[in-house]
Amino acid sequence: FTGKTGSELISDKIKTFQVHEFQQIPIIVKEDVSVYDAISAMFLEDVGTLFVVNDKSCLSGVLSRKDLLRASIGQQDLNAIAVHIIMTRMPNITVCRKDDLLLDAAQRLITKQIDALPVVKDTEDGLVVTGRITKTTITKAFVELGIDSHI
Ligand code: ADP
Repeated sequence: FTGKTGSELISDKIKTFQVHEFQQIPIIVKEDVSVYDAISAMFLEDVGTLFVVNDKSCLSGVLSRKDLLRASIGQQDLNAIAVHIIMTRMPNITVCRKDDLLLDAAQRLITKQIDALPVVKDTEDGLVVTGRITKTTITKAFVELGIDSHI
């Protein structure tokens, strides 16, 4: 018996969860794809956030559902607009790294009021996207905590 309370045990367990244990596959598009093709990718891949990369395959932007909706309510031809025109761009992208605590990634989602973070690796050319953490990832971790808990 450790003398720890249930909530102390849960909080200890949460602080062992790292991003790489839970990260999901990132869906990536290039800067020059059209808004139309990005919308298609979002449906086909069943994700709510796409990450955009430049010609060096490094992170240059993020596209959310609302970014694409906003671009779609004008009169424009969605095949004629490239995603780099409408994306949220570097350096204003909130990221996480594989060894970060999942709790810290979750806190970033909350404080920045966003749905997803790219998991990135630092290279000479920029940030390479290796994974994705979303609100769904955090929900899965939460459920796992409940199932595994022996409290
Ligand atoms: P939605 O807009 O579909 O509700 P989000 O809340 O994730 O989805 O996105 C809100 C805004 O924040 C969008 O303009 C989006 O481009 C931007 N955004 C999303 N994820 C990130 C991120 N990791 N870093 C910076 N900006 C982001």
